[in-house]
Amino acid sequence: MKKHTPLIVGNWKMNPATLAKAKKLFIDIRNKVQHRPQYTKPVVAPPFPFISEIERLAPSRRIELAAQDVFFESIGAHTGEVSIPMLKSVGVSMVIVGHSERRARGESDEEIYRDVQAVLNAKTTVIICVGEKERDAHGNYFSVVEAQLRAALRDVAAKDLKRVVIAYEPVWAIGTGKTASAEDAHEMKLFIQKLLTDRFSRRAADTVRVLYGGSVNKRNAAELLHVGGVDGFLIGGASLRASEFVHIINTAEEYAKSHPA
Ligand code: PEP
Repeated sequence: MKKHTPLIVGNWKMNPATLAKAKKLFIDIRNKVQHRPQYTKPVVAPPFPFISEIERLAPSRRIELAAQDVFFESIGAHTGEVSIPMLKSVGVSMVIVGHSERRARGESDEEIYRDVQAVLNAKTTVIICVGEKERDAHGNYFSVVEAQLRAALRDVAAKDLKRVVIAYEPVWAIGTGKTASAEDAHEMKLFIQKLLTDRFSRRAADTVRVLYGGSVNKRNAAELLHVGGVDGFLIGGASLRASEFVHIINTAEEYAKSHPA
């Protein structure tokens, strides 16, 4: 199984409340990540209105910028939507698609598929979120994840997989303080890689990072990396606390240094 540079993505969701607070949070993170991490890629996903201001604070790209969502059309009469050319023009290099909080508001597999296509056609990295609402004793959560993945990756070409990241985020673990065990995260990573290998090829599947998300914090990050073998994290709550977020980045940096890609 190929080792990847871990991706540590902070999803700020609809936080903080003002631009001033968002700038402060970013500066705190930036100042704590003093040197360009050599073995880890830190990323933050601020709310849309803050992205271009935050981009001015990140000229060296020590920390990359992601968007929390996108609309698949490029331009036109789509009130309230934001397109991939707009996001790229303000410095976004990755886009989160299909977050469970958006699925809960009615985003369909078809929309997610079109968003994935739009991001990949723009030669940009897409982070596709998948995950079950609950775990049952019969393993039905595997079929939930499989259906979400198949729908999102319909028509995706093997050559584009290098710009695909999968974030396994069990919904029951998001914002709840409950985390999947490192063993369960590992099992799901293997399952996802098997699906990708069957659908594409081993070589193409090896280019895909599988992240874990769901109540990641500074106490559970090391075990999820060492035992879970995940290729990084999608982090909500803990990414709003600069020192905790940077602690997780440093944990990943140490892990990756001793397990080189
Ligand atoms: C998320 O929103 O993707 C997430 C994982 O949130 P939290 O870390 O707060 O569970």
